[in-house]
Amino acid sequence: MQIVIERTTTPKPKPDLDKLGFGRVFTDHMFMMDYNNEAGWHNPRIRPYGPMELDPSTAVFHYAQAVFEGMKAFRTADGRILLFRPRQNMSRLNKSNARMVIPLIDEAFCLEAIKQLVRLDQDWIPSALGMSLYIRPFIIATDPVLGVRRSSTYRFITILSPVGAYYEQGISPISIHVESEYVRAVRGGTGFAKAAGNYGGSLKAQEEAHQEGHSQVLWLDGIERRYVEEVGAMNVFFRIGDEMITPELGDSILPGITRDSVIHLLRHWGITVTERKLAIDELFQAYEEGKLLEALGSGTAAAISPIGKLAWKGRTITIGDGKIGEWSQKLYDTLTGIQTGRIRDEWGWTVEL
Ligand SMILES: *Cc1c(COP(=O)(O)O)cnc(C)c1O
Repeated sequence: MQIVIERTTTPKPKPDLDKLGFGRVFTDHMFMMDYNNEAGWHNPRIRPYGPMELDPSTAVFHYAQAVFEGMKAFRTADGRILLFRPRQNMSRLNKSNARMVIPLIDEAFCLEAIKQLVRLDQDWIPSALGMSLYIRPFIIATDPVLGVRRSSTYRFITILSPVGAYYEQGISPISIHVESEYVRAVRGGTGFAKAAGNYGGSLKAQEEAHQEGHSQVLWLDGIERRYVEEVGAMNVFFRIGDEMITPELGDSILPGITRDSVIHLLRHWGITVTERKLAIDELFQAYEEGKLLEALGSGTAAAISPIGKLAWKGRTITIGDGKIGEWSQKLYDTLTGIQTGRIRDEWGWTVEL
């Protein structure tokens, strides 16, 4: 399929890099294509970024038949552009599609379309350390019908947003509320998919945690409310003694690409990584015994987010004196180093544009 490109005639001024924040500013162009049963995915096009008109009855507004991805493009010191493991994002998008009965995409074609879009808007990739261009592909159900059923039409869209350093004061440990009331996902549900509805449902817990001064929630499993699952929209790792433990994947855990990269790096360094069920009481017990040495969240937005405090049932523990741990720092430096071309990529993770 040929991608038709309509360039903007009114390019926007570039934003003030100090005030970027996350996902507030968008580039000059976006990618779109449509789906219907007769033509399949068709009409791929790049056009000026801007609002879309959709009928108020459009299925996605009512029943959240929608999926998304999140990935980044980085500018290296010598001016090259690198994507980080983008094929993994395309493959995960199709797993989300399958769960949400959205027609599968051609992964190679969509990656090519994203590359074309990034190339066109490459002047928007910030080159300052810690900054990048966030890429948000997503798919929405577009039938103008209120029946609760699978849509027969869809739109795939990709938008780009230059994002600032996640930690303005440098990487620093966050405080986490262990959530014992609300759950994010359950066995048989959609937790493993990047399905839009999962996130709307998580806002209340996040808001209550914020009110108590925490920056994220640690989700427990939806059945026993005992096993650790994720932290906010990040996967989670705990260092107990000389072992790193992360919850094993299942229906209710999003298989993070950063998580997979962290596991690879740690094992490469000779560290034992165990993927298993990890009970919150076991974690607090390990703390009592002085063995809980580090905790971190992993995800595209922040790469590595060290966890300094955990609050559970009225008790707050401080991990590693509230300072960033040795493994967390090394993971952060290595991951961001590979992503920005400062550290040699032994894994073939980066894709140059
Ligand atoms: C996107 C996401 C992650 C992290 O995935 P990455 O591929 O590492 O960015 C973890 N948990 C949830 C719930 C997510 O939505």
